[in-house]
Amino acid sequence: MNKGLLVVISGPSGAGKGTIYSKVIERTGMQRSVSVTTRKPRPGEEEGVNYFFRTEEQYQQMIANGEFLETAEVYHNYYGTPKAPVFENLQNGYDVLFEVDVHGARSIKKKYPEAVAIFVMPPDFETLGARLRGRGTESEQSLKLRLGAAKRELAKYEMFDYIVFNDDIGQAVQDVLDIVNAEKRKIKNNIEAIKALLGQND
Ligand code: 5GP
Repeated sequence: MNKGLLVVISGPSGAGKGTIYSKVIERTGMQRSVSVTTRKPRPGEEEGVNYFFRTEEQYQQMIANGEFLETAEVYHNYYGTPKAPVFENLQNGYDVLFEVDVHGARSIKKKYPEAVAIFVMPPDFETLGARLRGRGTESEQSLKLRLGAAKRELAKYEMFDYIVFNDDIGQAVQDVLDIVNAEKRKIKNNIEAIKALLGQND
């Protein structure tokens, strides 16, 4: 059996990567990777669905046990991807989709170079600023912080395989689906299937 694909959606805060992630999950059979976080649940968020919510103490214990594929501190909270379910899914041939910050994307690429990393970006920084402002949750200072971070993140473009400009959400979702489909059709991702057709499986 072919191993599943590991696809990472990343990009700056306000780029719309969370919305793209949810829509791609809805439209494909891709497996979600549920992250662990130390931040408090927001209204409507469910344990084991949006995140596994843990105390900082429990989180540190998970780090000590080597349970994470990657872990990062994002705006004063910890976020991490549990390792075991990801590798289990990939071994069983399921594609796994991640939505992580840029540090997380880098750690995943380092440990798992076959991962397909997609950078999601609004058409320009003015649009990003307007979107962050439109949320109404950021102070001017936090907005500046996030815009500065977004520029530094885009400057790390070389570690990404693809960029999707999120101008129109429907088109951005379609772009991600097209990327996943093209990756799945690559010869190197179909060696097992081809060998089986040729009767060369050992
Ligand atoms: P939020 O608190 O809004 O759900 O997420 C804040 C940020 O943390 C987002 O940029 C999101 O992509 C990132 N994030 C969520 N889960 C993980 C994870 O497992 N690892 C890393 N590195 N970042 C994550």
